[in-house]
Amino acid sequence: MALTKILLDESEQPTQWYNLLADLPEPPPPVLHPGTLQPVGPDDLAPLFPMDLIMQEVSTERHVDIPGAVLDVYRLWRPSPLYRAHRLEKALDTPARIYYKYEGVSPAGSHKPNTAVPQAYYNKRAGVRRLTTETGAGQWGTALAFACGQYGLDCEIWQVRASYDQKPYRKIMIETFGGVIHPSPSPLTAAGRAVLEAHPDSTGSLGIAISEAVEVAAQNADTNYALGSVLNHVLLHQTVIGEEALLQLAKVGETPDILVGCTGGGSNFGGLAFPFLREKLAGRMAPVIRAVEPAACPSLTRGVYAYDFGDTAGMTPLMTMHTLGHDFIPDPIHAGGLRYHGMSPLISHLVASGYVEAVAKPQSECFAAGVQFARTEGIVPAPEPTHAIAAAIEEAKRCKETGESKVILTALCGHGHLDLAAYDAYLSGAMEDLALDEAAIESAVAALPPVPA
Ligand SMILES: *Cc1c(COP(=O)(O)O)cnc(C)c1O
Repeated sequence: MALTKILLDESEQPTQWYNLLADLPEPPPPVLHPGTLQPVGPDDLAPLFPMDLIMQEVSTERHVDIPGAVLDVYRLWRPSPLYRAHRLEKALDTPARIYYKYEGVSPAGSHKPNTAVPQAYYNKRAGVRRLTTETGAGQWGTALAFACGQYGLDCEIWQVRASYDQKPYRKIMIETFGGVIHPSPSPLTAAGRAVLEAHPDSTGSLGIAISEAVEVAAQNADTNYALGSVLNHVLLHQTVIGEEALLQLAKVGETPDILVGCTGGGSNFGGLAFPFLREKLAGRMAPVIRAVEPAACPSLTRGVYAYDFGDTAGMTPLMTMHTLGHDFIPDPIHAGGLRYHGMSPLISHLVASGYVEAVAKPQSECFAAGVQFARTEGIVPAPEPTHAIAAAIEEAKRCKETGESKVILTALCGHGHLDLAAYDAYLSGAMEDLALDEAAIESAVAALPPVPA
């Protein structure tokens, strides 16, 4: 019987992050200053981020050493297990072999601490006293509250109103780790007050919450901002997922034929995929690499590839990305972590240049996959990775038809223990797939900032 759980010893833990920018034939377009439209330099970012992270953001070094004090905290849950989904395969009666890298073993129950810990570490080293951030489903806020506690930093979090109301236990977990949390839009910031005046019942969005957290960090010298996805340094930190998975698959003599992962801002997907893309670019393997997004927030499959702001108020630098427009507010779908209007510039660049393909899935198909996964593999997935599981199941069913025994790899980037209300909605038949009409996308995209080519 082939292994079910493929483990690494602590001594085999990767000690470097991998930077894909070192190996890409063409870099993504530059990030622009919103006022001057000139490429941003390190000094432009210094009010928000410590210099160590800014240098990682623009680095083209292939490998970055993970500091010992970060490895120490990583060892609380890393290396994480890679599972072979024997029971799911059997239920699907497929010749495919399905593997999933499980990040739910972390303190927050997701992949987010992989970057929260180094971000808190570098900020502490730079003498920062407090970090602000936004959170959607609450995973990032939980991870950052935990990480700040490890290094003695204060942590203040704006959570998207829709998720704040849907998921009260996240607030309690954040407070347990020592964080302070506000629903967004909030009356505490100019950005929040502007939204509340126009839309008193606003359910919020990640873009609005980012504006609030950035505003507070920009106005306070002892406070920095931390972002849980999208940026290059975040995806860099997440590459521990893919580096470990490469070693684990090698232990059982497998190479993947296809990687599928869910994309909100692109960090768990990039973290899994980039080390495999390095191997692909070097000609050592040739997996198809597929991003899966929600049909209700389809930036990669229905957005435009253009310069846009990362937030709603238009305070961040302009980045090229697949975007639905920074004004776009998605329906309050249950996968709160996938409700972002844009996408990581690096992932967008990979999709635009054909290295990565993208599909969108409606949430009912995803929850059906999540329930099947729970009943076979015994883990209740977070709503976000049910998108990846649905795509893995789709591929495994295709293998049944064609008789191909493909190796499918996915990231199970979090568990759903604090998302059970979403499962309740699905199981009771109350979950709807709302069609997103083209007019809603067109009007949000019409508000994109004009950037001369
Ligand atoms: C935050 C989150 C996501 C979405 O963010 P990415 O940067 O796209 O990974 C997906 N899944 C889980 C469990 C999350 O916490």
